Amino acid sequence: MSLDGAYEDDNIFAKILRGEIPCHRIMEDDAVLAFMDAFPQSPGHCLVVPKSPARNLFDIAPDALSALITRVQTVGAAVRSALDPDGVVIMQFNGAPAGQTVFHLHFHIIPRYDGRNFAGHGQSSRGDDAELAEQARKIAAALRG
Ligand code: AMP
Repeated sequence: MSLDGAYEDDNIFAKILRGEIPCHRIMEDDAVLAFMDAFPQSPGHCLVVPKSPARNLFDIAPDALSALITRVQTVGAAVRSALDPDGVVIMQFNGAPAGQTVFHLHFHIIPRYDGRNFAGHGQSSRGDDAELAEQARKIAAALRG
């Protein structure tokens, strides 16, 4: 997928945003949906996805990007409160050669824990649904304060 290709609305995050396939939801508002990554690189790995149909960082209006990154900060803070990681990776890929596999813009929030392995991007296995649901519940509760 080139950086300048057309947005394709059959991508998996578009389907999740439309409610056509399930996710372990953390929060949703007018600008974003946040949910657990189904293939976590580390326990608590979650994603924040804008509702704008943007392929990548270069394909979103500045106002929508501002709203998105603000939510990334808010959800990241909730991940800290809920899961008490030792560090948090925030990452985002643009274009297949950069490692992007789902062509709807998204930010990864990946808690890191001292002494625990961190799977490489695209090298993790499917997460346990019960664990993902519990992590989503804890992060959502932290968001509510
Ligand atoms: P990227 O490679 O940056 O485009 O990231 C896409 C992410 O989406 C990867 O971390 C995948 O594990 C994750 N992913 C793929 N399918 C799903 C799904 N159905 N639900 C949640 N996360 C998914």
